[in-house]
Parts: sequence; C-alpha cells; structure tokens
Amino acid sequence: MFKHSTQSTLSIVLALGFIGLGGCGGGSGTDSTTTADTTTTPVPATPVANNSCPSTVIPLTQAEVDEILFMREEEKLARDVYADLATYWQAQAGTVPVVTIMSNIVKAEQSHMDSVKGVLECYGLPDPVGANEPSGIFLNQELAQLYTTLMTRGKTSQNEALKVGGLIEEVDIEDLQRSIEISQQAYTDQVYAALMCGSRNHLRGFAGQLIKTQGKYTAQLLPQATVDAILATENETCGGASSAGSDKQNGKS
Ligand code: MN
Ligand code: MN
Repeated sequence: MFKHSTQSTLSIVLALGFIGLGGCGGGSGTDSTTTADTTTTPVPATPVANNSCPSTVIPLTQAEVDEILFMREEEKLARDVYADLATYWQAQAGTVPVVTIMSNIVKAEQSHMDSVKGVLECYGLPDPVGANEPSGIFLNQELAQLYTTLMTRGKTSQNEALKVGGLIEEVDIEDLQRSIEISQQAYTDQVYAALMCGSRNHLRGFAGQLIKTQGKYTAQLLPQATVDAILATENETCGGASSAGSDKQNGKS
C-alpha cells in the first residue's frame, strides 16, 4: 500500500484539478518576496546537538535529506493556511468553529515544524524556511502553488475551509507514509510517526466538525475506508522524537 509510485502526493493533488483557481500561475506572495530575498538561499548549517538528536548521528541518504526538507515546508504549508484562513474567517464571521479549530491546530503545526527543524539541526542540514519567513512563501514551488490554491478555496465558505483542512491532513498522512518508507533510521521514523499521529487528530477535528453540520465527511485523497477507520478511533496522544515509537518497528538498517 505504501509502495506507490515515486510521484508525490502533491503532484497528484495538483493534477486532480485543485490548481488554477487563482489564475496567476502560482506566483504566491510575489509582492512581498523582495523582503525575503536574503532568506531564500539556505546556508549549510553546523550540526547542533539538541535533546532529541540520536546519540550517534549517522548521515542521511540523499533521499532522506530531500524528504525531510520537503516535510519541513509541508508542515509550514499547514501552519500558514490554517493561520491565514483563521484570520480571514475571524474577520468575516467572528469566532466561528473553523476559526477556533484552525487557531488551535496552528500551534500543533508550529510544533511539527519545530520537530522537523530539530532533525535538520541534528544533521547539519540547511533550513529551507528562513527566519521570520512570511506566510505563503516556500522554496518548493508546488507548495507555493498549493498555498495559493487552498487559500482561494478556503475563503469561499466556512465548510470549504474545513474541507481544505481535511485535505491538507490527508495529503500529510499520505506523504508521511512515504517519509517513513524512505526513512532508514529509528530517530526519523519516530519524528514522522509523531507528525502523522498529529495529522490523524487534526483530520478528526476538521472532519468531526463537518460531520456535525453536514452529516458526513467525504475522503478527498485517501481511501474512504482509511479515513473512516481514523474517524472511528479516539484522539491520540502523540509522542515527540524523544519518545519511543509504540507502533513502529525500530532498528531498520
Ligand atoms: Mn502537521
Ligand atoms: Mn496537521
């Protein structure tokens, strides 16, 4: 099931026709990029041992590096979309459920970004996200395009905003399945597993609100049965990098 093609989930999402709503060719945030020029070229960093670094740091393969850099920005996509849609709907409609849900999840996405940054630091990898990087700015242009598309869609109605949340979490879960496939170290396995655990909780949040008002949540990317199985189980307590992964076999080599 996890051994799908190397085509990224994002490419699939884009190909499904979610692009093009903005009509501006994915030039997200073009009027603010001038201030971000100094942050768009990552500089190789010196490894920083933090509390969660593995005791022995074995270099990652190029595929693992590519994956962790991508996931750092995918977590930013979630954080930015939720923060910006929460601001938008707060201004339009006050503290409605989608605002409350997204505002809460923003904090989790920030912590997800932080745990991926922790991995980058352990391995001395350059951070694709600059300090004080503005919302909606990404090195990965597919993510930049997706940000624009999802913001446009999420502003059309509060229910669409909730569906955008559900879609982001479904994309995240599928991409993290690939991340774990690529990961060859227990440490990164655990980080990815914790992120995926959070994504399941977030999917429960968005879908739960839609079920409350619409009676159902229709899967947007994952198989409906997969989504239904997640929704049928309770919220989980998700460990961080320093906690042992309970459902993941460690010691891959
Ligand atoms: Mn996340
Ligand atoms: Mn999430």
